[in-house]
Amino acid sequence: MYNSARRRDPAAISTFSTMIKRLFKRVFGKSAPVRVVGAAHVIPYEKHGVSRDGISHGAKRVTDGLQAAGFQAFVVGGAVRDLLLDRQPKDFDVATDATPEEVKRVFRRARIIGRRFRLVHVMFGEETVEVSTFRRAIDAEDAETDAHGRILRDNEFGDQQQDAARRDFTANALFYDPATQEIFDYHNGYADIRANVLRMIGDPEVRYREDPVRMLRAVRLSAKLGMKIDPATAAPIFKMKELLSNVPEARLFDEMLKLLLSGHAMPCIKKLRAMDLHHGMLPMLDVILEQPMGEKFVMLALENTDQRIAEEKATSPAFLFAALLWHEVLAAWKAKQDAGEKPIGAMHAAMDEVLDRQRAQLAIPRRYDTVMKELWLMQPRFEQRGGQRPLRLLALPRFRAAYDFMLLRCESGEVETELGTWWEEFQHANDDRRAEMLLPDTGGPKKRRRRSKKPGSATQSELPID
Ligand code: ATP
Ligand code: MG
Repeated sequence: MYNSARRRDPAAISTFSTMIKRLFKRVFGKSAPVRVVGAAHVIPYEKHGVSRDGISHGAKRVTDGLQAAGFQAFVVGGAVRDLLLDRQPKDFDVATDATPEEVKRVFRRARIIGRRFRLVHVMFGEETVEVSTFRRAIDAEDAETDAHGRILRDNEFGDQQQDAARRDFTANALFYDPATQEIFDYHNGYADIRANVLRMIGDPEVRYREDPVRMLRAVRLSAKLGMKIDPATAAPIFKMKELLSNVPEARLFDEMLKLLLSGHAMPCIKKLRAMDLHHGMLPMLDVILEQPMGEKFVMLALENTDQRIAEEKATSPAFLFAALLWHEVLAAWKAKQDAGEKPIGAMHAAMDEVLDRQRAQLAIPRRYDTVMKELWLMQPRFEQRGGQRPLRLLALPRFRAAYDFMLLRCESGEVETELGTWWEEFQHANDDRRAEMLLPDTGGPKKRRRRSKKPGSATQSELPID
């Protein structure tokens, strides 16, 4: 499909483009005009100001490599949008007219991923650049859809213009060429970004029907980027929100995770609430927002996550889910203890009960269970400050996360602040100070009894978590 006549000499291209740029600068100064190429407006660097230096090393290597091999290649989507908004992109995606096999042949460390949507991951050290071949949207009449019009397959290759049209918002459909520093704009996305407007490409109703997740994306991106949702884009959401219930749970879960870990979880959730998108079809949000006791704790956990992301600290979905469900676990734990069960047995039963009950609604994958349970099981141990117990707790690999969790409990008023300050001091104290701080071990006789127990029988001070 790609013959050698299409291959261009990269050195010649770059000298040529530099010459053209110089000429432009000399003739037009800062106000270089927008060219029209086919259906695209081509916006020069002099107008948009995004320099090649803003592109990651890996993405530049990918576009340079593909272009040198004779293909078209552009940085596309969220990264171009974020650079125009003066934000640091999360990652860089590349779109090209090369097929996945052709991309793979150009790079040493590349692998094709996905069965339905074949993409190529090109690796450069720590960085992975996702490369997708231009695709086209398939008309709803021709496409395979579910009973509600949701498109199940849109995996046909296309050209750049078609690839722009299948994207969701005008701001997400810009292509940046690092070699020429030009932006290709088919849907007025540049003007929309400058006006701070998030606008659906095409007829919003049709686009939401094709993929209802776009409603959540509209809310998430507008909250995260501080963009207004264009009225025509926002209007159908209210009447179409029920369509979200047909979206597979795993996809909804991924979108929720993006929302919760966007660094802007609080504004996102407020906006979802304001647009009444949090009800019914998003059970995870119902749990987050409608548990009466836990709301303060959950809000603190979300603020804390936003803060950690702003400080570029690690965040873990398991920590967040453990926080979202903590008050349910607490309630179940208390009920079981009130009914006469021993604390530890009651805690295990409570955790299983809450996880089972939520599994059907929340679609939290089982892979997070182990860590969530560890975090929960460690909580009662912070209150045991006698004997060797605090030292054993401190030595656990997940102590730090459990400690952060406990601080949230202090902050929300669930436990005394004094507990948090005690642990803050204890973990940084030297051995002498620690010995002074330890409370008298009231569990002495119990401990001797425990020693004679069979190995494997759980006791309060030796919760089976490590
Ligand atoms: P973020 O900064 O959160 O990553 P993003 O816009 O880059 O935002 P991605 O999920 O990484 O979001 O998607 C990359 C690009 O793919 C988008 O910019 C958009 O062009 C396109 N895209 C993603 N999801 C959809 C969708 N549901 N419908 C149409 N286009 C989409
Ligand atoms: Mg992205």
